[in-house]
Amino acid sequence: MNISDLTIYDLHEALIAKRISSVEATSAMLERIDAVEPQINSFITVTPEPALAAAAAADRRIAAGDCQPLTGIPLALKDIFLTEGVRTTCGSRILNNFVPPYSSTAWEKLVGQGSVLLGKLNQDEFAMGSSNESSAYGSTRNPWDTACIPGGSSGGSAAAVAARLATATLGTDTGGSIRQPASHCGCVGLKPTYGRVSRYGVIAYASSLDQVGPLTRDVRDCAILLGAIAGHDPLDSTSVDAPVPDYLGGLNSGVKGLRIGLPKEYFIDGLDPDVQRAMDAAIATYQRLGAEFVNVSLPHSDYAVATYYLVATAEASSNLARYDGVRFGHRAEGAAGMLDMYTRSRSEGFGEEVKRRIMLGTYALSSGYYDAYYVKAQKVRTLIMRDFTTAFENVDVILTPVAPTPAFKIGEKINDPLQMYLSDIFTIPVNLAGTCAMSLPAGFSEEGLPIGLQLIGKPFGEESILRAAYAFEQATEWHVRKALI
Ligand code: GLN
Repeated sequence: MNISDLTIYDLHEALIAKRISSVEATSAMLERIDAVEPQINSFITVTPEPALAAAAAADRRIAAGDCQPLTGIPLALKDIFLTEGVRTTCGSRILNNFVPPYSSTAWEKLVGQGSVLLGKLNQDEFAMGSSNESSAYGSTRNPWDTACIPGGSSGGSAAAVAARLATATLGTDTGGSIRQPASHCGCVGLKPTYGRVSRYGVIAYASSLDQVGPLTRDVRDCAILLGAIAGHDPLDSTSVDAPVPDYLGGLNSGVKGLRIGLPKEYFIDGLDPDVQRAMDAAIATYQRLGAEFVNVSLPHSDYAVATYYLVATAEASSNLARYDGVRFGHRAEGAAGMLDMYTRSRSEGFGEEVKRRIMLGTYALSSGYYDAYYVKAQKVRTLIMRDFTTAFENVDVILTPVAPTPAFKIGEKINDPLQMYLSDIFTIPVNLAGTCAMSLPAGFSEEGLPIGLQLIGKPFGEESILRAAYAFEQATEWHVRKALI
């Protein structure tokens, strides 16, 4: 048995049965990180000593008979989650030395169960990007082909799972940042409904779109991890006070009679042939399992990317104002006065993509343009939301590709922001609508790169997409293949 290959579920069984200790599991992961990480660069910070101390504490807890589903499990977090006492950079030079005084609620909940933190994962700077190339800490590489991007912005989170450097990880998704890297790295990733998981202590990019979610080896682990982090948090006023269902318990109900919508706007001519083939095969699998397919339309899909880049950049320009070298962030040396200090701190601290978005967002919010851009975008957002409400009158879940192509090469799109933005064409509408969706492995390209399938659920319909995903996973072998790294 290879410890680093185990799922949360299997490792938990082994811990309970005392076949393995958390210290052994954590040490095995740390050794693998030492050996493999130079090829992948999925971590910004590795924390071996605190990890081993947390593992020893978990072992004491297990010995005393208290082993919850995530007790002693070695996890890692995107570097956007505040972690008390552990450097948190958000992939930016401007937060290079930032050590938070408190932790995000999502992580606190896992700490409460006795999870182990292996370290903080690489990401696009301030979660802006689809390839991990905008990180100030170097690109992360795709474990299936290290010449390729892992996706973004939670690229480190997906790559670490695919390379078996953490049993599971957390990411965030504002326009696709959990699902697109999960698709490119062959893991399972779920963006919960807006309000399902607390955003408290998660560095804000676009607050009306950001959500926290799990990246895991399989659907069962995804259900376990989502159940552990979901729920109301008085510290986040947008978190919803609704009971958290038993996601794990609901997995087995199958898809017989489930109505699955196929939006015609997502199955366009010119979709990458490998992606198209994987979707066709997935539809056939679901038909065999007894699901029913219904054609639906999401007529405003074409406007989603433009709408997103107005709403997200506007919110980002406001959220990122706090990094000014005074309240937060790197401060330039030798400035000639206050304004010069602000300008130089921000010029030195932020990367190109972040600067581009701050400028776009500031422009969209400026007087004279506000109604033409920001208000208009909010109205289109409402239309996109209504598209989903209407479609869900006839179907239980919606099936689409996650990304238009498999992972592309490092460097291929970095100088063409529009091409990069189009990577999220199938994931962005879900964030604008505020509902939930997940990516699960559904095949491989001719080059051997993973291809993900997206299942979109009704608001707070995480149970349905997890159930549909589990049925698919039980009927296929895609999730079993491992990147040969
Ligand atoms: N790739 C999209 C962007 O660049 C989405 C990022 C995200 O979900 N954080 O904004």
